[in-house]
Amino acid sequence: MTEIHPAKKAAIDLFKAFSLGRSSNELYPVDCEFIAKNLGIEVIGESMGDDFQACLYLSGKVKAIIYNSAVSVAGRLNFTIGHELGHYCLHRNLGDRQCTLDDLDNIGSTPPHGQDIEREANLFAANLLMPASDFRTQLMGSPADLELVTALSSRYGTSLLATLYRLKELSAKPITVIMVDKFDTIISVWKNRGFEELYIPKSYQLDEPLPYNRTHTVVNPEYFGIRQENCPFVLYQSSIDYKFNGMKIVLLTGEPM
Ligand SMILES: [Zn+2]
Repeated sequence: MTEIHPAKKAAIDLFKAFSLGRSSNELYPVDCEFIAKNLGIEVIGESMGDDFQACLYLSGKVKAIIYNSAVSVAGRLNFTIGHELGHYCLHRNLGDRQCTLDDLDNIGSTPPHGQDIEREANLFAANLLMPASDFRTQLMGSPADLELVTALSSRYGTSLLATLYRLKELSAKPITVIMVDKFDTIISVWKNRGFEELYIPKSYQLDEPLPYNRTHTVVNPEYFGIRQENCPFVLYQSSIDYKFNGMKIVLLTGEPM
């Protein structure tokens, strides 16, 4: 049996403690500020420059999470406090920690414990805010599209990106998340196991601008530069604007043919 990652274990344990005595409809979004205060950590908002997101401050008896109250992306605050709680639970022996927007977006495959503490704190926050069993229950009976992801990000109080990554991790269906820039060029591709064999060329420029639709529709694989003969799926795509610079997020799912 593979050992559970310490960041996941710490988050699951903290969620269990938080859920004690609460009914299921009192759990979400998980109240990170409440959890922090229960651990004796003050949570303080200050309006600061764009890049600073939050820090964990540890000095003698004073413990605080200070976050940038000028940052207004939906779901960001709860995830940010969850991230700082991750540093507190996993890395407080390293002292104070200051985190940027890039640190909060450093979401990806699970690093070995201690090797990439920003990603580890994000893994912790994802597991604390979006527990796997509840997340999988929410996926049942709904198409995996951006309509669903938007609803889940408001259920959990998480950013769209963090919620999409959790979907990619936990869905039994093939899932790919594609980021497209304002020139309609693919700049990043995240695939789960179900789409492992599917080759999507990075830097590929779409022939036509992306249609916006949160509910998914069938799409021709060649639209994303995928050769039809190499695609054993019927592909569905949904898409949404992403925070700045005309970027878009595309969610691709597939049903075996
Ligand atoms: Zn951090």
